[in-house]
Amino acid sequence: MLSSDLTFYSLLVPSIMSSLGIITLGISHYKGLPSYLSSYAYALILFGLAILLNTVLSGSALIEISSLVAVLYFLSCAFHSKAIYERLNVDYFWPTYIYLISLGAFGIYYYTQVTVDQTARLLIIGIITAAIYLHRPMAFIQSTPRLQIDRYLKIMTFVTAFIAIGRAVLLTALIKDQGFVAHYAPAWALTQLLLLLIELIFLGVFISCAILDLVLRLQQERYRDPLTGLLNRRGLEAYIQKIDPNPKLQHAVLMADLDHFKSVNDRYGHQVGDLVLQHISQILKANIRSKDQVARIGGEEFLIVLPHIQKDATLKIAERIRLQLEDTPLQHEQQSIYLTISIGVYFFKDPAQIEDAIVAADQHLYQAKQMGRNQVQSA
Ligand code: GH3
Ligand code: MG
Ligand code: MG
Repeated sequence: MLSSDLTFYSLLVPSIMSSLGIITLGISHYKGLPSYLSSYAYALILFGLAILLNTVLSGSALIEISSLVAVLYFLSCAFHSKAIYERLNVDYFWPTYIYLISLGAFGIYYYTQVTVDQTARLLIIGIITAAIYLHRPMAFIQSTPRLQIDRYLKIMTFVTAFIAIGRAVLLTALIKDQGFVAHYAPAWALTQLLLLLIELIFLGVFISCAILDLVLRLQQERYRDPLTGLLNRRGLEAYIQKIDPNPKLQHAVLMADLDHFKSVNDRYGHQVGDLVLQHISQILKANIRSKDQVARIGGEEFLIVLPHIQKDATLKIAERIRLQLEDTPLQHEQQSIYLTISIGVYFFKDPAQIEDAIVAADQHLYQAKQMGRNQVQSA
């Protein structure tokens, strides 16, 4: 029943794979890791199991359960593919997976029990593996990776599909040349090691994806205002540090404050007040250039930084914001809530002097309020 040429080393690859899968699954279960990591953990466990059976069983026992081993292996490919699709936000499709797994398992059964043909078996394994990874080819190709690492993941998926077919072709050629490829023939051992290497690289990439997501989320929480999604004061400071300090360039700072916001809260309630803040945030974002930034620095106070800009262009942007808010009331439960905003503008050259510029812009804002609100005042 057991293979006669079983050695310690032949057990190494399957046990490493399964152990990694079990550890990942355990952490995933207790610490709530992203779903692609648990999918990949299942893939590792199943893959390890398939290789283990392939390694420890003798030739005759293996023939008996060849389709079971094939199902384990193809299922592990399906979980691996699922993990990739989940990460890349492409919908995977279980019916196609099940169809391909059944087709592959039947093919293996046929060419083991009915007609013995090792070449056909190798080709089936290669082609079905590639088909599982690329089971929704158009959706997969057209998906747009969010991060650089997702781009690598996409390329690696194509490489894996390519290797799966390449491995089949290579082993087929060797069979033609030398007859049956034994379990531990160099080509077999080499391709097993290659598989382990690929699995380790994928595991590394998936873990990096999870870490990157975590870092991005922490940054987001640190630098953004949760209500409006705009930068907070800390986020704005980080942004200002990146402004080109060239003294020949002029930058602008806009201090904007909603008019009579307290009465909106008093009349419609605090929750509607929050909707008003989101509404104005949309208008602010829609009217600045891509290199500008807007931050919510107080209850209904917003600071907009426009790097490298002339006075005319600045006043145009400020006026556009004021007018658009005046013309677009917030629609809430069949009511139109009309809003206006006052804006103070100031210019500066040295980004290190931003604090002084903000104080000056605030003074102009105060002036705008004094002069009747709903207006832009500048230096
Ligand atoms: P002015 O035209 O002089 O600016 O009058 P105002 O009523 O807008 O100014 P004031 O500073 O007196 O009132 C600001 C109000 O903003 C008071 C507070 O209830 C409200 N506010 C601050 N933060 C929030 C928030 O996060 N959500 C809501 N809904 N209201 C907030
Ligand atoms: Mg106000
Ligand atoms: Mg205020």
